[in-house]
This record gives sequence, C-alpha cells and structure tokens, in this order.
Amino acid sequence: MNEETQRILDHVVLVDPDQQEFIQAVTSFLKSIDKLVEETPQITYYKVLDRIVEPERVIIFRVPWVDDDGKLQINRAYRVQMNSAIGPYKGGLRFHPSVNLSILKFLAFEQTFKNSLTGLALGGGKGGSNFDPKDKSENEIMRFCQSLMTELCRHIGEDTDVPAGDIGVGAREIGYLYGQYKRLMNRSVGILTGKGTSFGGSYIRPEATGYGLVYLSAAILEAKGKSLEGRTCLVSGSGNVAQYTTEKLLQMGAKPITLSDSSGVLIDPSGIDEKKLAFVKALKNVRRGRISEYVQQYKEATYIPHDGSGSSNPLWDVKADYAFPCATQNEINAIDAKHLVANGIQLIGEGANMPTTLEADEIFRQEKVLHAPGKAANAGGVAVSGLEMAQNSQKLQWTPEKVDRQLQSIMKNIYASISDAAEKYSTKDNFVDGANIAGFLKVSEAMIAQGYV
Ligand code: NDP
Repeated sequence: MNEETQRILDHVVLVDPDQQEFIQAVTSFLKSIDKLVEETPQITYYKVLDRIVEPERVIIFRVPWVDDDGKLQINRAYRVQMNSAIGPYKGGLRFHPSVNLSILKFLAFEQTFKNSLTGLALGGGKGGSNFDPKDKSENEIMRFCQSLMTELCRHIGEDTDVPAGDIGVGAREIGYLYGQYKRLMNRSVGILTGKGTSFGGSYIRPEATGYGLVYLSAAILEAKGKSLEGRTCLVSGSGNVAQYTTEKLLQMGAKPITLSDSSGVLIDPSGIDEKKLAFVKALKNVRRGRISEYVQQYKEATYIPHDGSGSSNPLWDVKADYAFPCATQNEINAIDAKHLVANGIQLIGEGANMPTTLEADEIFRQEKVLHAPGKAANAGGVAVSGLEMAQNSQKLQWTPEKVDRQLQSIMKNIYASISDAAEKYSTKDNFVDGANIAGFLKVSEAMIAQGYV
C-alpha cells in the first residue's frame, strides 16, 4: 500500500482496534484502490477515502421482548447507515448471535460498493441484531420482530433507508417487520424489500442472489471458453443463497455435490439433484431442521460434523471444478484455499459476503484462480431489491420473466464493468480489484460532486 492509503488504514485501526472484520474489509478495499489513486493523482481520492471509511450514521438500540415462558428478554440491534451518496441506504438485516458493530460495518461497507455496481440508485447500509432465531418459536420470532421495528421505524423510509433480509432474516421475518411498520406508521410503502408477493414483494427476489451468482460466474467462465455444463461444484451453506445457487447450477447443467450448515458438512458424490434440493428446501425452510438429516434420507451421502472451529473446513477439501461459498464471512482460510488449489479449483464465486480471509485471497491471486468477490457476485439480491423498490413506487408488479431478464442484464453489466476496471487499473481478470475500483468510482464521483460529504 502507498503512504496515503496506509495512513487511512492506520487511522481505522487506531480508532476501532477491535473491529477485526471491518479492518479486514477496509484493508482488502484499500489494496485495490491503491492502484487507481496512483494512476489518477489529479483527483483528490484521499479526501474521499478518509470519509468513506466512516459511517454517515450508526443507530444502536435495545430490543426488549417476552419469551413463551413469560420471561423478559433483551437483545441489542443496530442500523449502520454507511453511505447515501448515490441513493437511499440499502442493505439487509442479520439476526445471528455473532452480530456486532464490526460485522455490520464491514457488511455496510461492502454493500456500498456492491450497490454501486448494480447501476441502480442505491446507497449502502446494513443492520441486525445478536438475536438467535434458532430454537425460537414462531410467536417469539414475531414478538421480537415487532419490538425491533417499534424502534427501527423512526430511522427508515422508502427514500431514506430500505432494509431487506440476510442471515436469519427471510420472508417470514420481513413479513412480521413490515406488518409492524404499517401498524405504527399507517403507511403502505416500500420500506423493506424481500416482501411476500401478495403485499408488494417482487418475483425472483428470493432466487436473485443465488441466480445472480451463477449468471456472473457463467459470464466469467464464458469469457475463458469454459462453462458450467457437466462441472462439479462445491456449495457451502444451505440457506437462501445456497439453495438458489444450487438450483441455478442444476438448470445450467452443473453437478453440485456439497452443502453445509453451522453444525456440519454434507458431501453427496452422486450429485444434489432437483429432488434432493426440494428435500433440503423443505428441511431448512419449513421444518427448520439440520442438514445432517439429509444422510438419513440419501444413504449415498456423507455427513461430517463441523462447527467452524478447527484449522480447516472439510467441505473445501473435496475435489471439484468450481466453488461457491454461500454461508458466512471468513469460511475459507489459507489452509482451505491451499486444499482447493491442490484439488484443481478453477473458480471461486462468492455468494456470501467476504467468505475468504485476506491470506486466502492472496493464494487465489497467486495461483490465478478466477475469483468473483461477493460485492460483485452476490449483487443480484440487492439488484432485485432495487427493482422491488421501483415496482413499489410505481404500484406495479412485474412478471417473473421480466425481473429475471433484468437480473441477467444487470449481472452481465457487472461483469463488463469489473473486468474493464481490472484491465484498466490492475491486472486482467483480477475481479477483486475490478469490483472494488468500479464500485468506488461511482460512489467517489457522487461524493466529490456533493462537496465531499
Ligand atoms: P440464511 O440464513 O438463509 O442461510 C445461512 C446459511 O449459512 C445457513 O445454512 C447457516 O447455517 C449457515 N451459517 C450461518 N452462519 C454460519 C456460521 N457462522 N458458520 C457456518 N455456517 C453458518 O442466509 P443467506 O443465505 O441469506 O446468507 C448467506 C450469505 O449470503 C451471508 O454471507 C449473506 O450476507 C450473504 N448474502 C445474502 C443475500 C440474500 O439476498 N439473502 C444477498 C447477498 C449476500 P444454519 O442453518 O445452521 O444457521
């Protein structure tokens, strides 16, 4: 890193030394931006960078709720309103016990550049709570969502901040949150995306992140004369993004052979076909069970318990052509990266946000593995959220075909802009640099035009 970008990073570390995930995201970003600022010294990018690492606003509040035994419970919730240079803050809500300010700041930071890449007028934000939805009853989840929205409703709006789902927040939670907003504010407007299609939701929003990931990966492969057809793929996670990544991989003729959850890893060498995927969807979305149950149904598969501890994840030591991490941040470390490379992996397509550590990134770069970073590869979700906002403001609902066509076109444009930026300011096919630079260019232009605010 050059002296100025290092100064910016040092300041971030100085003011928030405990925010490891945020520091990691900023480090990765600044390493890419270094190349742009050296090429264009005439533009005062450093002044923008000083500001871009500081959220515009952070709201922290308590969420009091009552469990089924009548006991009073308390959780902490946050909304990080990171950057509104190009549009209203936009980004999901995460419910997971690990949620803290560092994780939400890293997610909001990534989201700012991701939203810029979509070409839509969306700023960056992220929020959530350290609430653990596992083992909670329907009623407890409903009461928690209602209590959270009782405070959050003052800070969001269709033209200021529009949250959506993320880990632990799916259609069910969005429905409860939206219902409470409506009761409190007496307004039926698009203040959340990922809503049910009967009350303002967009078709293809549930599918969008996974489908978009596969569309972008297919574009990268096509430019290299490769395809997904007949190729073996690793997918991690078994939630929204993993399910629809697997679905689209199957539609495009690939052979997904793994899934996981926070308790363990599933390997099915015979392939996870449509029927098995339907089983996983029912297991995870309806029964809210564990992925270990898959092996009771399909004996050809193997289950390896893995809770994220230990030096490596067995899922990344399975031989395959392409890998799609779709669970959580830092799920591929340096050892996992070495295993993937040793097994001949050719492409990493990130469904999750920042699933690779800085050391793993470096290994993929050195080994010339095609690497589509989350801020580009999983942008399909927020892109269709942007389309949901457009439909809400028009009071219209587009057909699934129309939304899917737009999603495909957005992912194609993202591929074009990240590969162009990589070639112009970094190295051909360095999509990590390309995504950071292309995302930053638009945000910085808007911030400069608005007086560096
Ligand atoms: P879900 O809650 O639907 O699924 C998350 C999956 O990841 C589950 O299988 C979960 O296991 C697993 N998981 C979560 N935390 C951990 C952990 N600490 N260790 C191991 N496994 C874990 O979330 P999504 O599918 O929506 O999100 C997955 C990733 O995709 C996240 O990084 C998210 O930020 C990113 N993303 C999501 C978008 C969306 O539209 N939903 C958009 C863009 C990015 P278990 O079932 O045991 O909890």
